[in-house]
Amino acid sequence: MAKRIAYIHPSFYVPYIFESAERNDVEFVVILPPGEVVQNEYPCVTAYETLPLYTDPEAAHHGIAELHARWQFDGIMTIKESCMVWTAEAAGRLGLPGIDPEAAKAARDKGTMRQRFKQAGLVTPKFAVISGMAEIELCREMAFPFIVKPASGYNSDGVQLVANQDELEKAIQVVERLNADIYHKVSWHDGQNFSNVVVEEFIEGGEYVVELFALDGNVVALNCGYKGHPAGPYFEETVYLSPPALPQEKIREIQSAAIGGMRALGLQNGPGHCELRLNHLGQPVILEIGARIGGSGCAHFNVEGSTDIDFSNLWFSYLTGAPKSSYWPPIASNTGKAASSWILPLGGNGLLHSIDGLDQVRQHPDCERVLMFAQIGKHYRPYPNFDGFLAIVFGQHASTQAGEEFFDFLERTLKVNWDPAPAVQPTE
Ligand code: ADP
Ligand code: CA
Ligand code: CA
Ligand code: CA
Ligand code: CA
Repeated sequence: MAKRIAYIHPSFYVPYIFESAERNDVEFVVILPPGEVVQNEYPCVTAYETLPLYTDPEAAHHGIAELHARWQFDGIMTIKESCMVWTAEAAGRLGLPGIDPEAAKAARDKGTMRQRFKQAGLVTPKFAVISGMAEIELCREMAFPFIVKPASGYNSDGVQLVANQDELEKAIQVVERLNADIYHKVSWHDGQNFSNVVVEEFIEGGEYVVELFALDGNVVALNCGYKGHPAGPYFEETVYLSPPALPQEKIREIQSAAIGGMRALGLQNGPGHCELRLNHLGQPVILEIGARIGGSGCAHFNVEGSTDIDFSNLWFSYLTGAPKSSYWPPIASNTGKAASSWILPLGGNGLLHSIDGLDQVRQHPDCERVLMFAQIGKHYRPYPNFDGFLAIVFGQHASTQAGEEFFDFLERTLKVNWDPAPAVQPTE
């Protein structure tokens, strides 16, 4: 019989988690906040239910208990940052497997996270957690350039590189506004206020990612990937290539920092998505961990495409109480293959006119899939606004080097054409 999981506010754009569910005889009852539109249908979704996840989280807890009585969930999960703490609490209340709500909070609050990493002896940026402009003096101990970010932000929203005092002040004000408008409302539901501003030293160096899985406190690194060398001032997502072009020894060092990060946060079960940079000494510096499959589910592909480990099914197996021996420990294949994802950069702004080269990309033997989000004729604004990705190209390669060559091919081949945006009409 199919196992049934309550899937809290999923993203429907990326199919990998849904496809894994279908393959593995898992069905989802999808729980959405009121007014949400279902952008894609998947056969593994049995039903959609509505709960006031953000507007009345306590009512949503009662609601999920009623739904559990009706649907008899085997498990409950989310990959949405804003639902992480609620879902951890719901799992606890329903008696289903999940993470400790305190660990979920530590993974949602970048201030607590930095503190825990530091206490655990991990190399992490110097930082100051401030309530806002009133506490700007607390940043005086550090040397520019800084990164300024909302303590409970996600999707790189509001993450800014600043070079001097003037930029620092402006950036703090931007984050204060984001906290008041967004993060203060969506992040926690227990009256605690985590809407701080985190200011930290900028680690210059290549970025890496590790996808992880923990079972009863035993943490395993599933892969390691290269994430480019984002230079700022804003930090939109770009590339992911797993495994990276690094010596095995360096990969193990990065993975071991990521495993230390999971332990420091108390994430004892389930997935983790850890981002790090290599500093000027080549040391891994841990930036953050999300208690989830990364990239709205893209990380499933980055793991499976390079290791043959069915990342989502590891999680489903744990959540639904499958016999441990059937899925643990996960064994990576040793075929040397690589997996990639590559996000088509805006490369301009205005009205999207056309994208050249898509057919050539789809015909390339390494092209696994192209997810198109671009809307021809839509007005896209430049960063730091985020009007959505244009496209994500997923690649499957015989080697890391072939993955790098594929990235060069994509850069050469895809061209985005813009028409200037019409001048904004003054409102009456
Ligand atoms: P989010 O949770 O919104 O993803 P992050 O803290 O991960 O925010 O920051 C987003 C990106 O900004 C990171 O992937 C990294 O490229 C860059 N970044 C954030 N903090 C630092 C830092 N201290 N040093 C260097 N780069 C950073
Ligand atoms: Ca994050
Ligand atoms: Ca991040
Ligand atoms: Ca990121
Ligand atoms: Ca294929």
